[in-house]
Amino acid sequence: MSDYKKGDAILANARHREEHQMEVLSSDDDSVEVRELKEEIAEDDMLLRAYYQLMDVIPKCPVHGNRCIPHAIEWVLCKLAALSEQEEE
Ligand SMILES: [Zn+2]
Repeated sequence: MSDYKKGDAILANARHREEHQMEVLSSDDDSVEVRELKEEIAEDDMLLRAYYQLMDVIPKCPVHGNRCIPHAIEWVLCKLAALSEQEEE
């Protein structure tokens, strides 16, 4: 599976999970399972928000548009290389 497809699969999975999350989050069930699920959802939510924030900062890929993972990785590596060059000066 290419990185681009992988990114798409992650997003599709996240969207699918969102439907079930509402059910869990609105549940009054205080069992360990439900509490663990709620924690998991909060973590996913944080990761997803960080992911979107990062993707908003990165200019879109000229070939694939927004949310292109290989392009994003390249862009970040480029920025890191530029930063370490600055430090050497
Ligand atoms: Zn691309």
